[in-house]
Amino acid sequence: MIDLHVHTWRCRHAEGTADQYVRAAASCGVRTLGITDHLPLPPTLLDRIPSAREYAMPLGELGEYVEEVGRAGDLGNQIGVEVLLGIEIDAVPELYAHASELLSRHPFDVVLGSVHFIDDWAFDDPELIGRYEDWNLEDLWERYFGEMIDAARSGLADVVAHADLVKKFHSHPTGAVGHLYAFAADSLAEAGVAVEVNTAGLRKPCGEIYPAPAFLRELNRAGVPATVGSDAHAPGDVGAAGRQAVQALEDAGYQSVVIYRKRVAEEVALSDI
Ligand code: ZN
Ligand code: FE
Ligand code: FE
Ligand code: ZN
Repeated sequence: MIDLHVHTWRCRHAEGTADQYVRAAASCGVRTLGITDHLPLPPTLLDRIPSAREYAMPLGELGEYVEEVGRAGDLGNQIGVEVLLGIEIDAVPELYAHASELLSRHPFDVVLGSVHFIDDWAFDDPELIGRYEDWNLEDLWERYFGEMIDAARSGLADVVAHADLVKKFHSHPTGAVGHLYAFAADSLAEAGVAVEVNTAGLRKPCGEIYPAPAFLRELNRAGVPATVGSDAHAPGDVGAAGRQAVQALEDAGYQSVVIYRKRVAEEVALSDI
C-alpha cells in the first residue's frame, strides 16, 4: 500500500512524530509514505485569521520539519518504508508567492495543493461550521470548484488534495453537480496535475472518500492520474481504508496510481501497491 498524505505534531492540530508515522506505516503494510505536513502560513494571514495558528507549523520550523522527515527516512530504510519528503500547501492566490518561495528552499518529493479557505473562511474547520448558513450551496460549490481549479493551474502542486473538500460537512446542493465534476476533471487534466483518493472523508460527516465516485470517474475519463492518501492526523490512521481507496480507483476505471520522487511522477500498477 502507499500513503502520500499524513500530518505530524508540527501543524499543532495533529499528533505523532515523523518516526512514529514510519513505524506505523511499517506495521500496517504501507511501503511508500509521503509525509506532507501543512506548509507554514504567512504572518499577514495569521494576523487576520487568529485560528490559523493551529492550521500549520510556524514559519521558523520548516527547516526542522525537513530534517525530521529526513531522519525518519533513515529509519524507514532500516524497516522497509520509503519516506517521501512532502508538504501540503494552501494553494490560494494570496499565498502563491509565499508558497513558491518556501517550496524553493527544500528538495520536496511531492507537493499537495489544497483549498481550505474561501475568502478568510476556513470552511473545513468544524469550529466555523455555522458559516455554511451564510451561503447558497450551489454558489458555494461553484466558488469552491473555481478555487480548486485555480489551485491546479497555479503550477505549484503535483497533486490536488481532497478535491471535493467542500462536501466535508455534507453540504451538498440540491441540484446536480455533474457539470462541476466534468469541467474540473478537464481543467485538472489540462493543468497536468494528479488527484488523490483521500480516505479522510470516510472519517468525516460526509462519510465518503474524496473525490466522490462520479467525480473520480470523470477524472479518469479526462486522463488525470491518481494517488492515494489517508490524510492521517495521528499515526493510527496511516494507510486507513487503503483497500477501499484501491476499490474506488478500480470502480472509476483506474489501473494505476502515481508516486512522486523529487517531484517526478512514476506510474505504479494498482495490482502492485
Ligand atoms: Zn491538517
Ligand atoms: Fe487539507
Ligand atoms: Fe492534509
Ligand atoms: Zn488535508
